[in-house]
Amino acid sequence: MSYCTECGTRLIKKHLDNEGEIPYCETCSAFRFPTFNTAVSTIVYSPDAKKILLIKQYGKDRNILVAGYVNKGEFAEHALAREVREEIGLNVVSCCFNRSEYYEKSNTLMLNFACLADSEDLSGVTPEVDYAAWYTPQEAREAIYHDCLAERFLLYWLDKREYYDTAFETYHFRNFL
Ligand SMILES: [Zn+2]
Repeated sequence: MSYCTECGTRLIKKHLDNEGEIPYCETCSAFRFPTFNTAVSTIVYSPDAKKILLIKQYGKDRNILVAGYVNKGEFAEHALAREVREEIGLNVVSCCFNRSEYYEKSNTLMLNFACLADSEDLSGVTPEVDYAAWYTPQEAREAIYHDCLAERFLLYWLDKREYYDTAFETYHFRNFL
């Protein structure tokens, strides 16, 4: 970013305590932090937390996770619930944060969560989704498209869950929207 998003003045670099050299607009007397997009992706669990939903989209034969951009002013948790409702036709009853990764290609910070759906019924899946199915965690490990963000999120989550006991799962899923 080299010009002010508000007034168009060419930005200079100015030192900001604890932040380093940050783009600065001398006309507005304001720092202009680099902007990026924010998106959520989620591992969707069946109500009994025994099965994981994977979907195929955009005409590609790849199993991925439900994902979408966060709107300005929207909470990440609400974006997640909205995407699951819009794409799969299911309501999210609770969710918890897993991990995040910055995706350079689309300048997006991707926030990954795991969530519990209120039903296994996939009759409300939108035509935007080519295919949607439930998998056991073991099946999901194999079925997820390899060497991508979705796989890293899923494996990190499953490995973490296997490390802890079921009390951990119950505790985390109690974290309501
Ligand atoms: Zn300005």
